Amino acid sequence: MFKIGLKTFCVIGHPIGHTLSPAIHQTVYEALGMDFKYTAVHVLPENLSDFVAEVHKTECPGFNVTIPYKEAIIPFLDDVHPSATHIGAVNTVKQENGALKGFNTDVFGMMEALKRGGWTPKGKVICLGAGGAARAAVEAMNLMGVKALILFDVIQERVHNLVCDFQRQLSMDIIEGDIKTDLIRYLPEVNLLINATPVGMWPNSDRSPVSGLDRIASGATVFDLVYKPLKTRLMREAEQQGCKIISGLGMLIAQALAADEIWFNQKMPEGIFEGIQEKLRSQFEIMQD
Ligand code: NAP
Repeated sequence: MFKIGLKTFCVIGHPIGHTLSPAIHQTVYEALGMDFKYTAVHVLPENLSDFVAEVHKTECPGFNVTIPYKEAIIPFLDDVHPSATHIGAVNTVKQENGALKGFNTDVFGMMEALKRGGWTPKGKVICLGAGGAARAAVEAMNLMGVKALILFDVIQERVHNLVCDFQRQLSMDIIEGDIKTDLIRYLPEVNLLINATPVGMWPNSDRSPVSGLDRIASGATVFDLVYKPLKTRLMREAEQQGCKIISGLGMLIAQALAADEIWFNQKMPEGIFEGIQEKLRSQFEIMQD
């Protein structure tokens, strides 16, 4: 029913057509001369338990999880690593001796993308969106030693729920922002703005989650988790304000390499990140022509 097996990893999601994960992982397996495959599997919500049964039956060594299953997969797992329990979301599952263990590599991916983008923690941070990716952003900012994060969503209740879920585990201040009044007020004060919403993602590439970006300090960094297009409208406008920009592509690659390290229990070789980045960037350029 699902095309997985002893030598085939996969990513599950609904929808799943947009995923770049097979291209990333297949490049890794080819570069390392590994006899493994990686595919995208479309799983409907009513078929999630059938998929997990198939993972056990076929001895599939592991899989990634994307929208909308990062939380829904947790009840099917035998164990969850602290990287995932802290944020309540799993994006990587490893099967060992018939037991399924969940991990989260999005937090690592986000920190790695920011470090590679030259960002160092300083001052306040704005995070737009209070969904799954924002949970990874909150954890990453806390681990990186940020002092204060202001969180915004179009649905205020989501901001409140996320803050309540995290409050006791954080050493940084987390502020519930009101998107109608506080965003404009905090923009000049921040050192980093993270877009953890899908606003600006292809095919709605003409949209930006921020109006009034001219208030942001030049020298601040804007990190857009969206990676298609590679340079979003938010990033283009941020550049015009003299901001540094970081695309979501680096996070995507870093979280994938971290998943491979978990599955194979080995470090990825030097230079593989750059090789994949170059390959994907040229594929994007061809697609945008
Ligand atoms: P999600 O669970 O749908 O959360 C996004 C949240 O942002 C929703 O609550 C949404 O509200 C809210 N929102 C929409 N427009 C907004 C605006 N203008 N201002 C403030 N909040 C707004 O999505 P997610 O899983 O967190 O993913 C968010 C984005 O990150 C997606 O584009 C995803 O592809 C990207 N992502 C990238 C990586 C990577 O490796 N680069 C990894 C994970 C996620 P509504 O639901 O009401 O619209």
